[in-house]
Amino acid sequence: MVQKQCDLCAGTEFEQIGDRDRHGNALESVICKSCGLVAHGNIPTDEELADYYATEYRQSYHGEMIPSDRRVMRAWKNGERIFRQLQPHIEPVADVFEVGAGIGCTVKVFELNGHQSTGIEPGEGFQDYSQQRLLTNVVRGDLFEQPRDHSRELVLLVHVIEHFKSPRRALEYIRGMLADNGLFYVECPNIAAPFARRSKMFHYAHIHNFTPSSLKMLAESCGFQLEVQFGSKEDPYLQMLFSCSDSRELKIDYNNYQQTIQVLSQATALRYHLRPRYLSSRFSKVASYLREHLTAKQHVAEVVKECQQFASDQEDEEPTELRAAA
Ligand SMILES: [Zn+2]
Repeated sequence: MVQKQCDLCAGTEFEQIGDRDRHGNALESVICKSCGLVAHGNIPTDEELADYYATEYRQSYHGEMIPSDRRVMRAWKNGERIFRQLQPHIEPVADVFEVGAGIGCTVKVFELNGHQSTGIEPGEGFQDYSQQRLLTNVVRGDLFEQPRDHSRELVLLVHVIEHFKSPRRALEYIRGMLADNGLFYVECPNIAAPFARRSKMFHYAHIHNFTPSSLKMLAESCGFQLEVQFGSKEDPYLQMLFSCSDSRELKIDYNNYQQTIQVLSQATALRYHLRPRYLSSRFSKVASYLREHLTAKQHVAEVVKECQQFASDQEDEEPTELRAAA
């Protein structure tokens, strides 16, 4: 272990909680004994990460350079869910900016619903697809190149925070991009979720792993205040909406360390008892994959058509009128 300082609380004492990734390859995971943040024992260097993303990432993790119809359909449905979740909490004209927009489905769903909606995505294949097929305003770009001019109204960070070397640096940066009344939505895997997703735990690309408590602690110490936590405590994904706050106080939840250790050891104990349920959920997963393959192609064709229709409607009308009418 070479990690010197916890990214959340600057603590320096760690305990090893894993030595393998989800595929059985060597990967040391540690927990901070002060705040309970889970991270790699060896935080990769910038060079190692650049290497990894340039070569392995899209192939080994996403499995593809150009997104499949199934992936696009799932991303689209996910974008619709995020929009439905956030709609009651945001201004109908709020502009939206997504960091790590992927295929750009979420950005596009907000745009189709009357929002000025843009994003950045570093991955070439996904960004090309986003711009060319879905006609999104997603450009290739990096978070730390964005202006910190307090102009953004809603920033989305969906399944991205776990990839940062320093999530603290990322959240502090985003706080600087946001207006004082701006909102910040973050979604990432929940390491405290029950067993079913445990097989997906620990991945080289996921440098930090969060519980509801550690994500909240980190965001609060970066100038945010929790507004809504969507879903239940046991959801496989954390989904939190924050507003901006003047306070950047770090309030350490000292229970998080023990609770996280406990939930991880329970996961191992539960393995045997949950096995039949686990198998049947695997079976229904396979069935649902097959259904998805059959319907994805048609679904994506419809989505692409809708995006094109929207673009041609917009060419006929002034964008300001369109927004006012929406
Ligand atoms: Zn810590």
